[in-house]
Amino acid sequence: MTKLRDKTISRAEFRKTAEQLTNILAQEAMQHLQTESTNLETPLAQTTGLKLANPVVLVPILRSGITMVHSFLHYFQNATIGVVGLKRDEQTAQAHWYYENFPPLSDKHQIIILDPMLATGGTALETLKKLQQHGIPQKKILFVAMVCAPEGLQAVQKEFPDVKIITAAVDEKLNKDKFIIPGLGDFGDRYFGTE
Ligand code: URA
Repeated sequence: MTKLRDKTISRAEFRKTAEQLTNILAQEAMQHLQTESTNLETPLAQTTGLKLANPVVLVPILRSGITMVHSFLHYFQNATIGVVGLKRDEQTAQAHWYYENFPPLSDKHQIIILDPMLATGGTALETLKKLQQHGIPQKKILFVAMVCAPEGLQAVQKEFPDVKIITAAVDEKLNKDKFIIPGLGDFGDRYFGTE
């Protein structure tokens, strides 16, 4: 987190560090998923092991969420991917839909939403409402973010108390432009080079 926040690191370092952090978050996410036992044979004996109880659907929120997909696929190799496009209006900080493409969804699926920055919670809430319309219970949803603002966390926890949020940092506050303080700036701009 320290490196990611540092405005002097290069784009290459920013990307590499974001990837390392995403790997840690993916491993943490794994700890919160339902598992079931499975029988298998080692070369020497019968034994039991664990496997994920539900098929995983990764839901990256465009555009920054897609930067987390590659790392998550290391851990959830069979996951399907549903992409949602929500853009924050920089003036009003309101989230607007511009894209939605989900694989088949049912209450059997385990959803993992990916978005590096949980700021106002606007895009998170829109995505969660959409998943609710598709019949996904809150308990089957994990939200993974690198940094959260307390405002966004509260907004999500108020409307979706059973959605689990996995994050590396809960920061101080939002500024008047709805950026996270201290935060790390505009994640997408730093990662994609659109500053
Ligand atoms: N999105 C970002 O990239 N940074 C913020 O601080 C808030 C939203």
